[in-house]
Amino acid sequence: MIPGARLVLLGRQGAGKGTQCVRMARHYVVPHISTGDMLRMAVKEGTDFGRKAKEFMDAGELLPDDVMCGIVRERLAREDTTNRGYILDGFPRTVGQADELASIAREGGQPVDLVVDLEVPEDIVIQRISKRRMCVDCQTNYSVDSPPRYDWTCDNCGGEVLQRDDDTEEAIRHRLEIYSEQTSPLIEWYSERGLLVVVDGLGHPDDVTQRLIRDVDHRTRRIVG
Ligand SMILES: [Zn+2]
Repeated sequence: MIPGARLVLLGRQGAGKGTQCVRMARHYVVPHISTGDMLRMAVKEGTDFGRKAKEFMDAGELLPDDVMCGIVRERLAREDTTNRGYILDGFPRTVGQADELASIAREGGQPVDLVVDLEVPEDIVIQRISKRRMCVDCQTNYSVDSPPRYDWTCDNCGGEVLQRDDDTEEAIRHRLEIYSEQTSPLIEWYSERGLLVVVDGLGHPDDVTQRLIRDVDHRTRRIVG
């Protein structure tokens, strides 16, 4: 991938998107912009916005488009992303948001270079998410199968590692329903514009990372280079 490339990562929750975004951001030395992390941070800090966001998140609902677009617009205007590009994670979720992202990118003269759909089947992600645990302080992900080394205490920061409020099976199923209704048309939308690459998200995370980097390198060379 050329320096300064702008990537969007799509995928069901539990597809391993967060983990892979962190790894790719490190590999390509670009900022990883996770709207989920931004929202959880606001909730934790208890800002007015955070309290509002929590109501939607607890109900397993997406935040309104105008709210999400405002947050993303502000973040993409910062110098680190205008200089170095980005990996955008958690946005867009709807065709409306994709349209808005396209216009934000046009205004800044910085169109999105590639959209990656990390594909993992629904039954697999339900299994994965119900095992997922997260550090309440630094948001590092763990799972029942790979817990922190000591008594559900975060290896990185010593924070408490818990199941997220929105990771109950009922909430997961509700989110997946919303995903197929609202986010799946996005895949079509990006595909029609020639921006989409689908990457198989099954298998060991290291193998998935290699697959992602290979496909992103290949496609951004063709599109950008
Ligand atoms: Zn932690």
